[in-house]
Amino acid sequence: MKGVLQDKSFEEIAELVEAAGEKSFRAKQVFEGLMQGKKVSELPVPPALRSGLLDNYEDEPVRIRETFVSKDGTKKFLFQLADGNLIEGVLMKYKYGNTQCVSTQVGCRMGCKFCASTLGGRVRDLTAGEILGQILAVNRAEGGNLKERAVTNVVLMGSGEPFDNYQNVVKFLRNVTAAGGICISARNISLSTCGLVPEMRRFAEEGIPLNLTVSLHAVTDEERARTMPIANRYKIADILDACAYYFEKTGRRYIFEYSLIEGENADFAHAAALADLLKGRPCHVNLIRLNEVKERNLSGTSEEAAQEFLAELTRRGISATLRRSMGSDIGGACGQLRARYIS
Ligand code: SAH
Repeated sequence: MKGVLQDKSFEEIAELVEAAGEKSFRAKQVFEGLMQGKKVSELPVPPALRSGLLDNYEDEPVRIRETFVSKDGTKKFLFQLADGNLIEGVLMKYKYGNTQCVSTQVGCRMGCKFCASTLGGRVRDLTAGEILGQILAVNRAEGGNLKERAVTNVVLMGSGEPFDNYQNVVKFLRNVTAAGGICISARNISLSTCGLVPEMRRFAEEGIPLNLTVSLHAVTDEERARTMPIANRYKIADILDACAYYFEKTGRRYIFEYSLIEGENADFAHAAALADLLKGRPCHVNLIRLNEVKERNLSGTSEEAAQEFLAELTRRGISATLRRSMGSDIGGACGQLRARYIS
């Protein structure tokens, strides 16, 4: 595989252009072209520079192979990488803007029992430019540009564990927030982790004030280990400490994802225990009814039970919302679409 030009910051592209003996204003043309979602072969630069770049870099490292449109307007994208691997992403339309869900790895090795992304394990990490490339491709396909973006918010909640691909994800975050590029503010970005404590603490020191989201899904370590193998490695108490550290460093409140699984974590006692666990913390809880994955015999709660769980948390003083499940008619849950293609 050739390199991925979209991995590079503006400064790195400027060095490359200089090394190629080209005038320095070409760097801006290359960088802006890439950020507009152009292929390397479409960059508005002299043919010699373009063909030099094509010798070393992939023309189109992330290509939209298929688009599925849900009745609710949600779009699901199947992307093909230069080595033929497939990843997926979703664009959800809200009143305040469009949120794109991106993948950080091909597959995942965290092994959560309810998640389709992990079914075939981890194939490989994505580079920074392959993560960014998903956004650039969708922004272009949706008619956006660098001034009027069609993608305004980003969630790292597709396939993969972002902190299991730490360096590339941090590089991606620096590039996606950089001035002159697609320039999405860190405040409009959510990073979801299953709770890799050392990386959470390290990330607190990077100075990237995004919405740190932790997949909790349980109230005790024992219960958590039933669906999330990572619970055998890190304790909930240590995850909470790492969240507090992130708040201390960035002033950003943090978010917990809690998927309601029938017969597992969704009754009143769990709502009370979750409220006790989180009481007084600068956090928010995102509830979602588990999206059924046919390979897993776990099911979501009823809408009514989910509403009761939410009401109990709220009554106990915890800030919480129940997320609408979007795009379920097009395989909206993690890894479902790719799983359909590779099985
Ligand atoms: N690896 C990261 C991010 C990817 S998953 C993490 O674990 O946080 C994004 C969110 O979707 C996580 O909270 C994950 O636990 C949740 N999720 C996975 N499969 C799901 C399903 N079938 N139904 C509902 N939520 C699911």
